[in-house]
Amino acid sequence: MSLAHLLVRHALAAPERPAIHHGAELHATYGQWAARSAGLAQHLHDAGLHPGDRVLLYMRNHPRYLEVLWAAWWAGLVVVPVNAKLHTKEVEWIVDNAQARWAFVTADVAPAPLAGLERQVDVESPAADALLAPAEDMSAVPVAERAAGDTAWLFYTSGTTGRPKGVMITHRNLMTMGMTYFVDVDNISAADAIVYGAPMSHGAGLYAIPHLMAGARHVVPLSGGVDPAELFALGRALGPLSTFAAPTIVKRLVDHAEETGLTPADAASAFKTIVYGGAPMYVADIRRALRVMGPRFVQIYGQGETPMVGTALSRRHLADTGHPRYLERIASVGVAQTAVRIRVADEQGRELPVGEIGEVLVKGDSVMAGYWRNEQASAAAIRDGWLFTGDVGCLDADGFLTLKDRSKDLIISGGSNIYPREVEEVLLTCAGVAEAAVVGAPDPEWGEAVVAFVVPVAGTQLTEAALDRHCLEQIARFKRPKRYLIVSQLPKNNYGKVLKTALREQLAAQSV
Ligand code: AMP
Repeated sequence: MSLAHLLVRHALAAPERPAIHHGAELHATYGQWAARSAGLAQHLHDAGLHPGDRVLLYMRNHPRYLEVLWAAWWAGLVVVPVNAKLHTKEVEWIVDNAQARWAFVTADVAPAPLAGLERQVDVESPAADALLAPAEDMSAVPVAERAAGDTAWLFYTSGTTGRPKGVMITHRNLMTMGMTYFVDVDNISAADAIVYGAPMSHGAGLYAIPHLMAGARHVVPLSGGVDPAELFALGRALGPLSTFAAPTIVKRLVDHAEETGLTPADAASAFKTIVYGGAPMYVADIRRALRVMGPRFVQIYGQGETPMVGTALSRRHLADTGHPRYLERIASVGVAQTAVRIRVADEQGRELPVGEIGEVLVKGDSVMAGYWRNEQASAAAIRDGWLFTGDVGCLDADGFLTLKDRSKDLIISGGSNIYPREVEEVLLTCAGVAEAAVVGAPDPEWGEAVVAFVVPVAGTQLTEAALDRHCLEQIARFKRPKRYLIVSQLPKNNYGKVLKTALREQLAAQSV
């Protein structure tokens, strides 16, 4: 079944129901959304785009993201969502690799034509108004037949090593993701609303699917990005809202709440649920978030290859402060979501006993069909139905998965394994530390030396001596950083992940 049917169903049953808001203004009802998507689907079909052809979405968050996305699925096309922060050269590489035919863009993100396309449409142009003019009779535009295993979403991995790979995410994968949300993340009704702060080209945008399943409202901030004051204001006007946020975004929301003196009750009136994931959430940070904003958090762990579906740490687990292993649990990523099995395995894929550290494997209906036109990489990533995630972690006896760092981030110093996250967790409990990232730097004596980049809380003075004293009190001597670099910010990608590769490069450049 095609994902387009989800929209048709609500448009027929409740055409007047508000569907998409741009800022606080209503942009489309369910009837209008479907009529516009059907109108565009007809144009795409008339232009000779066939089911299975690729169209690129390269824009900031915009209400038309949703209209174009569902139009493409209506016409049976495969959407290629592109990170708005990519360099033109990188985007053109994706256009070529995916053999994309059309692109829908916003002019701020793509001011010039991209090479290799048949047509590029600025979604804010009169041409887009014409293409998205509502179909007079949407029942005259049949939804293209798609099998559950056909690709819907061709997501390019960030490709920190080598060229990015196109991850083939099918209609079945996304249906599974949508339904699993209701079981493992949160219940949603038509009265609810989601706000898109994080980029819609990633998991945040995919959460449109469960919200569409429920016939809920979709809110796109006018800024098209994350501005905590704007998000809180939208929450007060249209909420309480749900949203997906990387840990760095959660931190900005919490900072805003604290700085403006908002109470947990104020936070509750603005936000129903904040789903966090995509990067490590440190214990000190989630405890502060719970204290300032109340019990409105749920964690998920997934990756582009099994989008938004891996494990979940529920609101209930996060509230269970009396549990004897509460701290371990909130440092974990929770338990397997309902649609998948999780296993920790050795290099040969053999399951390891509870407590042992190995690679995290995922199996289930959310796992990608494979990498686009890359048999070799597909065969390496999926073996015997299990997705080898490249993440390293361990399971406890209750089924909670704790992630260590990705294998490439592990530091080996003097022959001992040091997991940066453990050191980061400790640094974050030191007064005056806002953010911390730990990496290994080449060291002639130790092989690698632990180096900490630390961002102080605004207005505080941190000293190396104080940081070192704090680490010595909490962790083994060999794990404590050999150097502390106090910096004003950490390099992050568009999705809010700290770029450890950039930190390592910075250190390498300094040592030459
Ligand atoms: P992406 O494919 O860009 O979504 O990145 C997925 C990767 O982000 C995973 O393989 C993990 O390394 C990391 N990640 C995702 N969710 C979490 C989480 N809840 N905690 C820690 N790391 C995470």
